[in-house]
Amino acid sequence: MVNKDFLIKLVRDPDPLEAILNYLVERLLGKVDLADIDASYEVLEDELSRFERWLYEVWGKSFYEFLLGKPEERALWALSKAYRMAGEMGANVLVADGLSLRELLVLIKALQGRVTYTAGRVAHPTTTAMAARSFFGTENLQDAFRGTGLREGYEWTGQVVDNVRSPPKIGGRRHLSLLTYYPDAPLHSAVKYGFVQIQKVSEVIGDLVKIISELSRVSDLVVTGDHGYIFLGRSPNRYLWRWIGHTERHGGSYGDHGLDVGGEVVAMGRFHAPDVLKSGAFIVHGGISLTESLVPIITVKGGT
Ligand SMILES: [Zn+2]
Repeated sequence: MVNKDFLIKLVRDPDPLEAILNYLVERLLGKVDLADIDASYEVLEDELSRFERWLYEVWGKSFYEFLLGKPEERALWALSKAYRMAGEMGANVLVADGLSLRELLVLIKALQGRVTYTAGRVAHPTTTAMAARSFFGTENLQDAFRGTGLREGYEWTGQVVDNVRSPPKIGGRRHLSLLTYYPDAPLHSAVKYGFVQIQKVSEVIGDLVKIISELSRVSDLVVTGDHGYIFLGRSPNRYLWRWIGHTERHGGSYGDHGLDVGGEVVAMGRFHAPDVLKSGAFIVHGGISLTESLVPIITVKGGT
């Protein structure tokens, strides 16, 4: 299923995460149909789930230890890379809560020729609160986007994009640090946001593409996320291991499928309860898995 060249690259590459992301983009880009995001996300998830199973088969539990990374590798975190890259380029940063590699695929297709990307790591457990605490040093994410502040050696002016249908008109401003709760909020708390049907996933992703396209009209924009997610879609049973339990992906006991992260046990792999959709969420996150732990840093060239 996976070619030998890729396997060799994975073993030899100084940063296998980058090799994995490049491989997935090459392999999955053709599966994205912008006119039918819902169906595309289902197809992508089948592929991603199979690919993660294969990685686990060849790499074992150490694949998940690799995804965890090491505390001293902070420079490889997606958020750190994004602020550094944008600082050097004189660009703006958009932190999109829950941005995953699926959205990278959509953006490459939607914004033809304007997108470049690299791979980043995230803090674990893969929650918004953890990202806020460990990277920004704030209790919640919103607090990190108020006023001005230094990040990675550059000064930024924070702003929260409250209304995704009407993003702020930023013109040619630079060194803005912007936050949107898309795609996480409407996919996670779908009922609260009025997204009760799976078909609406395309609306959420479509809105995200519009925000990104609007915010990169003049200045370059570097987009990244605080964590990724596992897409449940119509087939939440694409788990690697079935777990009869509640849906939290950290803080429980997960037998052989958990790893200790700073004194807390975090679920590894696509390990969740089959009835997870009852919660009304289209996605889950909090654990250690390919699509929760690998987050792209996406540069969109401004000026169309
Ligand atoms: Zn989040």
